[in-house]
Formats: sequence, C-alpha cells, structure tokens
Amino acid sequence: MGLMTWLDFVFFVVLFILFVYVIANNVITQLHRVYLFFHFSMMIWPLGQIAVHTTDNPHLQLICINVSFVGLSMLGFGWLLFTKYLTNHGFAPRPYVLLMMLLPSVFVVVGIIWNPNDWFIAAVDGRYDDRQYGLIFWLMIVMLISYFMYSMKLLTRAYQSDAPPSDRAQIANALTGIGVFVCFTLLDLLLNVVLAKWLPVIPGLTSLGIVIADIYFVFSIQKHRMFDIVNIAQKDVADTLSVGIIVLDEQNVVIDLNSVVSPVFQLSVGTRLDMDKLLQSVEDREKTEAFLEMYRLHPEERVHTEIEVPEEGRMAYIALHVAPIVVKQQIIGRVITLQDHTELRRLIEETSRQNEALQERNRALLLMQDELYQANRKLEQMAIIDGLTGCYNRRYLMQQLEHEVMVNMRYQIPYAILLFDIDLFKTINDAYGHMVGDDVLKLTADVVRSTLRQTDIFARYGGEEFTVYLPHTTRQQAEELAHRVRSVVEHNFVDTGVGNAPVSITISIGMLAVEPQPDTELKDSKSYLRELFVKVDKALYEAKENGRNRIVQY
Ligand code: GH3
Ligand code: MG
Ligand code: MG
Repeated sequence: MGLMTWLDFVFFVVLFILFVYVIANNVITQLHRVYLFFHFSMMIWPLGQIAVHTTDNPHLQLICINVSFVGLSMLGFGWLLFTKYLTNHGFAPRPYVLLMMLLPSVFVVVGIIWNPNDWFIAAVDGRYDDRQYGLIFWLMIVMLISYFMYSMKLLTRAYQSDAPPSDRAQIANALTGIGVFVCFTLLDLLLNVVLAKWLPVIPGLTSLGIVIADIYFVFSIQKHRMFDIVNIAQKDVADTLSVGIIVLDEQNVVIDLNSVVSPVFQLSVGTRLDMDKLLQSVEDREKTEAFLEMYRLHPEERVHTEIEVPEEGRMAYIALHVAPIVVKQQIIGRVITLQDHTELRRLIEETSRQNEALQERNRALLLMQDELYQANRKLEQMAIIDGLTGCYNRRYLMQQLEHEVMVNMRYQIPYAILLFDIDLFKTINDAYGHMVGDDVLKLTADVVRSTLRQTDIFARYGGEEFTVYLPHTTRQQAEELAHRVRSVVEHNFVDTGVGNAPVSITISIGMLAVEPQPDTELKDSKSYLRELFVKVDKALYEAKENGRNRIVQY
C-alpha cells in the first residue's frame, strides 16, 4: 500500500473512533440517530478510497469507488436532515417529505452504480487508479452543492431568528463545520479533478476535510451538550411549566424565556426588560414604588409583587418574583418568574365571601339559640309558677313533696305543712271588684314569702288557698312561723282604689307537723301525701269553724 492508502486508512480509523465515542458518550435521541447516519455516510468515503488501492482488479476497484461515492452522495441528504432537526426541535417528518428530501441522492446513487456508457466514471488504461469523471459525477457535485446551499440557507435563517443563544451557538458551529468540509471538497475537486492534467495528485483532501469537519462537530457537540437529553428535557420542562420564566443578564436584557411568558409583555430574546412598563397597570402605586425601589437599588435581594394584566378580555393577576443569579458572589443576571394567580385570587375571594355569609348565619343562629333558651326558661318557669302570685303551682308542690316525704321518712327528718285560706275573700271581690281581689292575692303572697326561708316551698294550692312546706322544721318552729305568717298578713294593708280606705285581710291556717318514727316504711308516697293533705285540710276547716284568723294544728 502506498502513502495515499495509508492516509485514507488512518482517516477511516479516526472517523470510526469518533463514531464510537459519540455513541458511547451520549444518550440516544432522534437528533443522535440523524447525526449517526450523517457521520456514517462520511465514514464510507475514506473506506472506499482505501479499498480501491488494495486490489488491481478493475471490477473490485469500481465497486470500491462506487461505495465511496454512494457514501458521499448520501452526505447531502444526511446533512439536510441533521440541519432540519437542529433548527427545528419539534421536527417530525412525514414519510413522503423524507422521500422528497432523499430523492436527489437516490437519483444520483442509481446513476453512479449503473454508470451508463461510463457517464459517471471511466477507467484509464483499463484501471481505476487513474480515472476520468463524466456527466453523472458533475451531477453529483451539483446535487451535493445544492443540498449544502439549501442547508446553509436554513441554518443562516435560524441563526438570524430569535432562537435562544445556546441554539444559535450550535447553529454557528454547524455552519463553520460544514463550511470547512465544503472548502476541502471543492479544493480536492479543483486540484485533483479540474487541474489534474497539470498538477500531481494530492491525496486525501476530501477525507481530510471530512475528518476536520467531523472533529469540529464532535467538539462542539460535547461543548454545548447539544445531544444531552437532560439539556433537551430541561427546555421541554421549562416550556410545559405553568410558570413563566425570564432570564435577564446584568443589563436587564432578556437572554432566555420560556413559552409560558405571555405575549402581552412583548418580550423576546435580546429585548431589554422595562420593569416600569410591566408595572404601569398596577393600581396600588405605593406598593409598586416600593417594589421598584428594591428592584433597582437592591439587585441582590429577592423581591416580589403582583401585577394586573389584561388578558383574553379579563384581568389576570400575576405574581412576579425576581431573584438574582449569583456566581462566585457576583450577580450575573436575574430570573423573573411569573405565575398566574387569577384563579387562586378568585377562589380566595369566593371563600372569604362564603365565610362571611357563614359567620353572619352563625351569628343569627346563636341569637336564635339564645332566644330559644330564654323562651324555654320562661316556659319552664311558667310550667311551675303561678302567674298571678309568683308562687309555685300545686303541681310543682306535689311533685316536690312526693320526693321530700320519702327522704324525710328515710332519714327521720321533721317537717311541717301549712295550709291557709283567706277569710271571707268573697266579700273583697264583691266590695272592690276582682281586680282589687287579685291585688290582695298577690300582695298577701308577697308578705308571706318575705317571712319564709329560701328552702321553704310556698305554693298556691288553688283559688285563695296557699300551702307552705317547711323542711327540717319541728312542731315548735312551725308553730312560731305560722303565727308570724298570720300576723304579717293581718297587718298588711292593701290599696283598694280611689276614695276607699286600704283594707287588710286575715287568714285561717291549718298546720301539720310530722316527726317520722324509726322503722316506718313508706310504700306509696302519693297516697301518703293525700292523707297528709286530708289532715291539714281538716285542721284548716276547724280554724274556719272556730272563728277564722287562727291556727289549728292537726
Ligand atoms: P271563707 O272565709 O269561708 O273562706 O269565705 P270565703 O268568702 O273566702 O269563701 P269562698 O270559698 O266562698 O270564696 C272564695 C272566693 O275567692 C270565691 C272566688 O271568687 C274568689 N277567688 C278565687 N280565686 C280568685 C282569684 O284568683 N281572684 C279573685 N279576685 N278572686 C278569687
Ligand atoms: Mg276563703
Ligand atoms: Mg277558699
């Protein structure tokens, strides 16, 4: 093998190592696959070039040359596809689009393999070491140049668009790399084809171009991590977030922003962010001024505020956070996040409105509960108290006594019962009318009550008859009390109306004192009570019989 063969072989090995290196070091994405196809097409060229020199058989030589040129023809398509993926992240070609992109390459490949009338290549002296190129060769050159020109146009257009800086750097690298390749190929073409008659053969120029371009590609792929799935995923994630993100450099120029940032802000990469303008629609000027002051004078601080933005015919409330980007204690830029709070705000307002309504209802309910409690208390009172005199009623008295007599019996506690009736009350009614009669009833009850103890039970027994139950009271104590009661009533004068002198009344009292004996057992407290009242009623009757205004003990 001569020098030329060795060179081509070395180039092949270098390309192959780079190929394996790229596969080993990167997570495979669609962009990878396209790149690998492109890279593989590049590798075929030197491979064919080696092989051509390993044999003297012209048929084998032709096959090797064909392999080389088929690879070269596919480069154009490979590069176009790579460009498409590079300039359009979401590129997903339909089969017929792919076919259209591939068609010129296929067309030329068919011509190369078929080689009708030696229109692609002709042997010199029956061998292909020296060869003459025909029409199809030049067609291939034109086709390749067209592919590369078109790709360059796409790249240049993408470079001039407002793509993010990292994308633009990648595009610039691709442009440079492919520029190098095209230069070397054209040089090879010029020196070894066009000027071949006058110049010695300079070996491996196209191969060298391919290798230099490819080393450049691999270098920039690693440098910009353009195949890095994390990098790609980060971009995707940033675009699917519900938070708008704007990255500013230290001059407040936008260097990156995700697609969530509303077009209302009219921001794009390269524009300077005017915070005053962003905040101009906010009504709370005081809060806004405070925020702006912090924003301008304290870039090291994290600050936030809320802005209002008209969006889709409504007001959107957006929380705006600003945080510094600090590298080695130096602020190199800022990140602004924008989060739509409209729905949250609406929910909070709705909740607080409902809360207020609930509290209002609660207050009304508490008021009602209180009223109900009062009404209940009143009802309870009404159920046990006599409305005219304020004494307990007979039902309550009996209820209490049923229990009391049992306890008294059980523990041998002495007690007494007074039953008194107003004397000749009918005459009061007759003389002064029922209203005065009522007054007399009420005032008599009042004076009697004032002579009693808290624990005594004073009840209206019916009409103008009253009962006093005296717990823990001996016969003697009861007697004394009965006398006091009789006396206070007698000395109590009641107004009887205009022109009449006040009157006083008297009462007759029947008294029953009980001192329970040991070993007596009470079976039926109701009937026992009835017996007691028969007795005390007898005593009262006797008091009436004996001339009224007196006390009779049973
Ligand atoms: P005695 O000394 O025998 O008891 O004579 P009396 O007139 O008191 O007896 P009587 O039982 O015949 O009369 C009781 C009267 O009390 C009859 C009734 O009109 C009157 N009376 C009963 N309850 C009330 C009341 O709530 N208000 C008024 N004004 N009078 C009442
Ligand atoms: Mg009476
Ligand atoms: Mg009576």
